Amino acid sequence: MTASVDTDIIAVAREQVLERGEGLSQEQLLQVLKLGDDRLAELLQLAHEVRMRWCGPEVEVEGIVSLKTGGCPEDCHFCSQSGRFPSPVRSAWLDIPGLVRSARETRATGATEFCIVAAVRGPDARLLSQVREGIKAIREDGNDIQIACSLGMLTQEQVDELVAMGVHRYNHNLETARSHFPNVVTTHTWEERWETLRMVREAGMEVCCGGIIGMGETVEQRAEFAAQLAELGPDECTMNFLIPQPGTPYEQYEVVEGRDALRTVAAFRLAMPRPLLRFSGGRELTFGDLGTKQGMLGGINAIIVGNYLTNLGRPAAQDLEMLDELKMPVKALNQTL
Ligand code: SF4
Repeated sequence: MTASVDTDIIAVAREQVLERGEGLSQEQLLQVLKLGDDRLAELLQLAHEVRMRWCGPEVEVEGIVSLKTGGCPEDCHFCSQSGRFPSPVRSAWLDIPGLVRSARETRATGATEFCIVAAVRGPDARLLSQVREGIKAIREDGNDIQIACSLGMLTQEQVDELVAMGVHRYNHNLETARSHFPNVVTTHTWEERWETLRMVREAGMEVCCGGIIGMGETVEQRAEFAAQLAELGPDECTMNFLIPQPGTPYEQYEVVEGRDALRTVAAFRLAMPRPLLRFSGGRELTFGDLGTKQGMLGGINAIIVGNYLTNLGRPAAQDLEMLDELKMPVKALNQTL
């Protein structure tokens, strides 16, 4: 690719995304993802300007807790919680007092969102009743934090139940480009995931949807994935970077190279100017401290603090100090971005 074309895509993005708030197309995203390292600083700067212009300086902080860990019947090749692979993660349930304590600790960090996660294909009656009891107990504890859930694929009835429980946002990742999905998961389809997201949106819950970068997808498929997420139009997009998990089919995969990861963050922001773009799993391993700051200055405006499911994150206080240093205020509860 010539230097003039490179210059052109950043100039086009400046006009189209920054000025008009219109995300880049799949073809344009591919050009962005193919920009050389010599253009990276410029690209990140533009992505940061887009984020500041269309989202503002606030950062949304979220904590997550695993209500049911491990033993999942699905075969997502990246996941240490699949019961199909010989990974060291064992099936376990968290009790209600543990859930309440975790929500309280999350609220104390200043976080405004608390996500209850379960490793399942979809929830059964027992899981939904635990979630219902858990939310009730969190409220009885005087905790007003917003509750999100990530419980796999849903039926319409289950969507309605979660709305009735007061669940604010539902997380369900599309994981990767539609064309790459069958290489990553064989026990369900991308379209089944999309259908859950459609029902969630129609029922009035906020939609949180993203995926994992670094699962053998081509650069074309990264552009495809960003464009497909933009078409979905999530309220929040989670960006995970593969942490190769022992015992899973992807245990030998390389961690995404830091500059590639930053380029991908910027591309996702240029695909979706307005949603929360959240740094999730793999942040420490892929980016380290310096890269995390660069990501925060390259389009990201939401983070998960504390423990993330099966991988320990760095302490919440360290992330809050970083936001302070970057002069990015933590979004207050009930404030709309
Ligand atoms: S459905 Fe979720 S918990 Fe189950 S294997 Fe896939 S990613 Fe892991």
